Amino acid sequence: MTEEKSIFSKIIDKEIPTDIVYEDEKCIVINDIHPKARVHLLIIPKKPIPSLFELMPEDKDCMGHMMLLLPQLAQTHGLDGFKTQINTGESGGQEVFHIHIHLLGN
Ligand code: AMP
Repeated sequence: MTEEKSIFSKIIDKEIPTDIVYEDEKCIVINDIHPKARVHLLIIPKKPIPSLFELMPEDKDCMGHMMLLLPQLAQTHGLDGFKTQINTGESGGQEVFHIHIHLLGN
C-alpha cells in the first residue's frame, strides 16, 4: 500500500505552489503559512522521514546539513538570535508527519 504523500512532499515535488526561500539537493526551506514570529521558517528534508522516531543512522548527514543551515538562514533574515523546534508525534504537537525544523525569530 502506498502511503499518502505529505503536504511537504507535494511542495518539494512542486505539486503545490509555495514560495521556496532556499533549496538544495538535501532540503527545502519555506515560510510557515501561519507564522508565530516575524520570521518563521520550516527547514524540510527532501527525504520523507515521518518524524524523529523514524530517523535512521544514514540520515545523520542530512540532519547535520540542516542544522548548519540554521545560523545562515537566521543571518540572511536579519536575526541575531532565534529559536528552533521539532515537534514529534501527535502528543508532541506534530501536525505534518514529514520531519521539519521550525526556525523562529523577531
Ligand atoms: P508541526 O505542528 O510541527 O507539524 O508544524 C507544521 C507546520 O506546518 C505548522 O506550523 C503549519 O502552519 C505549517 N504548514 C502547514 N501547511 C503549510 C503550507 N502549505 N505551507 C507552509 N506551512 C505550512
